[in-house]
Amino acid sequence: MKLLLTGGAGYIGSHTCIELLNLDIDVVVIDNLSNSSYHSLERVQSITDKNITFIEGDVRDKELLRSIFRQGDIDGVIHFAGLKAVGESNEIPLQYYDNNLNSTITLLQIMEEYDCRNFIFSSSATVYGNPEKLPITEDFPLSVTNPYGRTKLMNEDILRDFYKVKNNWNIVLLRYFNPVGAHPSGLIGEDPNGIPNNLLPYITQVAVGKLGKLNIFGDDYDTPDGTGIRDYIHVVDLAKGHAAALQKLKIGSGLNIFNLGTGRGYSVLEMVDTFSKVNNLKIDYQIVSRREGDIASCYADPSKANKELNWKAIYGLEDICRDAWNWQSNNPNGYKKTR
Ligand code: NAD
Ligand code: UDP
Repeated sequence: MKLLLTGGAGYIGSHTCIELLNLDIDVVVIDNLSNSSYHSLERVQSITDKNITFIEGDVRDKELLRSIFRQGDIDGVIHFAGLKAVGESNEIPLQYYDNNLNSTITLLQIMEEYDCRNFIFSSSATVYGNPEKLPITEDFPLSVTNPYGRTKLMNEDILRDFYKVKNNWNIVLLRYFNPVGAHPSGLIGEDPNGIPNNLLPYITQVAVGKLGKLNIFGDDYDTPDGTGIRDYIHVVDLAKGHAAALQKLKIGSGLNIFNLGTGRGYSVLEMVDTFSKVNNLKIDYQIVSRREGDIASCYADPSKANKELNWKAIYGLEDICRDAWNWQSNNPNGYKKTR
């Protein structure tokens, strides 16, 4: 089997490459390196002792995509490529719509030309908005509050509309909860540009001395300790979820949607506490006001993926904190940015 991974040099894509290569799947990556480094793929190759075919370029480039499909044998596509920062999406919405929607449309068009009908899409729990109850199942109502989230929901809608007329395709929408942690080797991990928006990369940068103290966004939520609760999933578990989803790329599987989460929520203070204990480090923090757009709690009901994909997250919060710190402490400045 040969798969094309768009955005495969990025955080989740690079971890997924490892799981696929370990299954003897041939991996072709297209990435414009706008938020990643080729070094991630070099390290994936050294971890697995297998080769990846890498094409540097933009998924919206039709001719480039054609040249990839023309070489033949692409059995399916996992579409990770996209811009992903909520705050930035409010500042440059057109770039988010252009990048995140046109990349999917272009891919689908070229896949049709080459009769490649297997597609896995990186969606997000953000499509559930502020859920009325918990845990979240796949049939919950969908709503979004920012351009990034809207691109995820619009992509899902595009795929649902497309499938109505192309029901010989196999399409899987994977709704990720909060991907965190790093490969246990410490060789690949999350390498955000600038000051991290997400909780765990912020904590690891405080721990490594790059940032002064963590700002905890509110301790007055309706949660046991007042801080926000999320479903943190180890990126290796998430990557394995993609390998499991390949089962659905069988003729006649249709369009399937899965939550990829652990089913268990942790608060910001629980994360800080676990990180400190596991790594024997003190994390300075202060409570500040709530961040606009944040919700109190969000966690998955992952039982559909557990049953239908025979997949379950196995790593716990301690593993997550240990592996995130292993990556950050071994790579205080992330990857080198040049190819
Ligand atoms: P990432 O930024 O590390 O990876 C995305 C990759 O896509 C990067 O390597 C980037 O260079 C590339 N890219 C972006 N636009 C491109 C384009 N037009 N052409 C070619 N390459 C392009 O992000 P990630 O955390 O690995 O996320 C992967 C996917 O999962 C994204 O679609 C993201 O929205 C989604 N997702 C991420 C999270 C999360 O918290 N990390 C949560 C839910 C969903
Ligand atoms: N959070 C925080 N300080 C930070 C970053 C995040 O207190 O610097 C909180 C945030 O309010 C939320 C949780 O940590 O309750 C997870 O936030 P993240 O941005 O990682 O994920 P998302 O909000 O997108 O689910």
